[in-house]
Amino acid sequence: MRRTPLPPALPSTDRTRHRRLREQGSDKRAALDAILAAGFVCHLGVIVDGVPMVVPTVYGSDGTELYLHGSVASRSLVASPGATVCATVTHVDGLVLARSVFEHGVNYRSAMVYGVPRLVTDPEEKLAGLRCLTAQCAPGQWGYARVPSRKELAATSLLALSLEEASVKIRTGPPDDGTSGPDADRPVWAGTLPLTTAFGALVADPALGEGIAPPPHLLAREGGRVG
Ligand SMILES: Cc1cc2nc3c(=O)[nH]c(=O)nc-3n(C[C@H](O)[C@H](O)[C@H](O)COP(=O)(O)OP(=O)(O)OC[C@H]3O[C@@H](n4cnc5c(N)ncnc54)[C@H](O)[C@@H]3O)c2cc1C
Repeated sequence: MRRTPLPPALPSTDRTRHRRLREQGSDKRAALDAILAAGFVCHLGVIVDGVPMVVPTVYGSDGTELYLHGSVASRSLVASPGATVCATVTHVDGLVLARSVFEHGVNYRSAMVYGVPRLVTDPEEKLAGLRCLTAQCAPGQWGYARVPSRKELAATSLLALSLEEASVKIRTGPPDDGTSGPDADRPVWAGTLPLTTAFGALVADPALGEGIAPPPHLLAREGGRVG
């Protein structure tokens, strides 16, 4: 497990240097941390048998590494250790509706993390990584639900991807064609349509035994915003 805190500025490498729409880029690690903390699903891009594979998967972040897990038989996880991968986290905050279709866009926060993940084999670190991942997706469930057995741990791969090399992009605000350009005076409604994702109400498993009430940590998440 990495212990040294990462620098407050994200590095500009050949991979992470913003080229297009550079003004939406941020080099602040705090912005990366906030984007990672706001979600729990990423897309892991990895080359498997010479073909790109982009797999949606849950993650946990401890601020220095991203933990990704799955079956030991998972092709994307088997190919990842030793290979450069890219994990992307995206939060869509709304549609940007401009006066021209060309200027339409999306308000968003997104992060891309590059690196060569390592396979976590140390049993204690593996448990800690899985706990971190569980805490990110379902805080309070580790220790409430049964923790993994040795057999389940052996059937699970855990990868740790350093957060050292990462990039962030954020777009906020109205469309860009309202103050200048040929369409500024066009009588077309323009603005944004915000988008939020939120948890609904808990739905009990029909097989749930009598008298088992949801715990406070789950009740607290009802209606809570994601992203
Ligand atoms: C939900 C969503 C929808 C989008 N829709 C479109 C679309 O339809 N058309 C379009 O052109 N663009 C779209 N974008 C922006 C898009 O993600 C790219 O930023 C942009 O297209 C520039 O791509 P590029 O290939 O030229 O990257 P470059 O500018 O060449 O990328 C250089 C480096 O910048 C970093 N980078 C680039 N994009 C991002 C990002 N989004 N987040 C974090 N780091 C990044 C990466 O490290 C990358 O290697 C969308 C973004 C989001 C989040």
